[in-house]
Amino acid sequence: MTTDKLLAATDQCVKCGLCLPHCPTYRLRRDEAESPRGRIALIQGLTTGVLAPSPRLDAHLASCLECRACEPACPSLVAVGAIVDEARARRTLALPAWRRWVKRTWLAALGSARSMGLAAHLAAIYRATGLSRLARRLGLRRLPHIYAYARLAEGLHPPGPWQKTQGQEGDVALFLGCVSQVTQGATLSAVVSVLERLGIGVARPAGQRCCGAMLRNNGFPDGADRLLGLNAAALSGRPLVGVASACVAELRTHPGLAGTQEICSLLAATPWPAGLDLNPLPANVLVHEPCSHRNQLGGNADVHRLLARIPGLRIADLPDNALCCGAAGTYLLQHPRTAEALLAPKLAHLDRLRPRFLVTTNPGCALHLAAGLREAGLPIEVCHPVELVARQLPAVQAEPPTCG
Ligand code: SF4
Ligand code: SF4
Repeated sequence: MTTDKLLAATDQCVKCGLCLPHCPTYRLRRDEAESPRGRIALIQGLTTGVLAPSPRLDAHLASCLECRACEPACPSLVAVGAIVDEARARRTLALPAWRRWVKRTWLAALGSARSMGLAAHLAAIYRATGLSRLARRLGLRRLPHIYAYARLAEGLHPPGPWQKTQGQEGDVALFLGCVSQVTQGATLSAVVSVLERLGIGVARPAGQRCCGAMLRNNGFPDGADRLLGLNAAALSGRPLVGVASACVAELRTHPGLAGTQEICSLLAATPWPAGLDLNPLPANVLVHEPCSHRNQLGGNADVHRLLARIPGLRIADLPDNALCCGAAGTYLLQHPRTAEALLAPKLAHLDRLRPRFLVTTNPGCALHLAAGLREAGLPIEVCHPVELVARQLPAVQAEPPTCG
């Protein structure tokens, strides 16, 4: 984005303040600089040279969750997410080369299916040897930036054998992502089972990469664009479906991937074969709506529509879904205290309502919510909505033997 375009985008803000009550960081801190309006003013000052860069100013830009809850509330349609992305890109360019390299390498590791696979194997050892229990007993929680990785390790699982095989044949291509492969293995298997029962073959094309959202939100738009281009080359030619709402939102920003479908929407819109009735599940489920689903994909009505296919399931929204849970991509690793503070009210609602299941369509939110529930000792299972659907599929009828 050119400087003129950035200033034009920030000038759209009329400083009305209607966005303030919708911003989770402003609600938490009651500090103008932690609000959308305040951040826009800081970016205007920085871009025009009225304000000098400072660690304090950088901290206010870094503490934005990029949840975009401010955008639907804004009468002037200010693109706060894109403005913050651009400001972060400019601040990242101003970093010394070695700091840029360290940040880029860290993001490359998080966005690589291979390194996340290795991390998942190490995480399995960490759990199996009891190191995770020891870390909790030793009070690792007092070191939030280290504890954030320990929490992440609790939710990583090595990819299953089917995930390692690439299949070029199929009616739709499944976007596997990077983190999803080690946090959403069960979801990816469930998606394949359900689609195949609907007669839709699933391809898992080779050459696909991380969607790039982590790079874009952390000041590396060129790297994000490069990944989107590689994905467009690997995945074009048939309908594309994704299971992680944040990845779907990012993929849709590329013209060649604009038609990427979110899995619940695809399953809700597809005609189901006559006689394929799901088994009943008499249980309460609360639906968590990730910010990417709410503010970038237009809402998760299709999640409710899909779950309504399960007889007996009592479905309700997790209260205060409009407020970010604090996961926000890499935010839970970079700002663990704020991430936990934003999670606390969600845990209070879950403690009061005690559903059997909590469903969410984004893997980062699922990890963060599951970690909080585990620490609070609440026996609530966190899963993707499609996992519940897959579990309730009726058994496949065996072909009657033929007389020979
Ligand atoms: S994107 Fe979220 S955290 Fe950032 S200013 Fe908007 S509402 Fe606040
Ligand atoms: S609602 Fe929009 S115009 Fe009003 S202060 Fe917030 S960003 Fe600016």
